[in-house]
Amino acid sequence: MPFQDRGRKRHLAKQVRADGAVMAACFKTQRPIDMTRATWTTDPAAVNCSMCRKVIAAGIAGKNLTSEQLRILRHMLGIDDPYMREPRPWRDYYCANPGDPEMHALAEAGAVMLYDTRGGYEWWRCTEAGRAAAIESHGTIRHPKASRIYRKFLEVSDCRPDLTFSQFLTDPDFRRTRQEA
Ligand SMILES: [Zn+2]
Repeated sequence: MPFQDRGRKRHLAKQVRADGAVMAACFKTQRPIDMTRATWTTDPAAVNCSMCRKVIAAGIAGKNLTSEQLRILRHMLGIDDPYMREPRPWRDYYCANPGDPEMHALAEAGAVMLYDTRGGYEWWRCTEAGRAAAIESHGTIRHPKASRIYRKFLEVSDCRPDLTFSQFLTDPDFRRTRQEA
């Protein structure tokens, strides 16, 4: 039934019961998907349920993506800054020499797909699963909150050389800046 499910949540189908009811990969308990509110697919790329995507990403992580491969995925999405509070992808591409073994290994793992060969290069983007794995992995490089606050202080003190760290920590003027670190 193509397009009839537009707008509904699409889970990854995990298990079909004898009576035909389908369970989602993200369900923690044994229950069927409520088909009036959601639907399912067996194609990982078509899943739009964020919890199911995490399950898919975990599956990819289970295929032992190396830390170097995860670094490439984060770089593709622009989420390789350890001072980012929340990893929000803002780009999605990688330009590599034809036959780059690292990129082809990532494609093999289902984390990237080739979308162009213009200019004699191979242009790659993340699959949904690769994207989910990259976002998930940002937690492994993210600096702790205290370090992120200190870095904000260094940024602010560039323009305010008289400001001390303890003033920065207590001054209500910087409350928002501290929160957003
Ligand atoms: Zn789901």
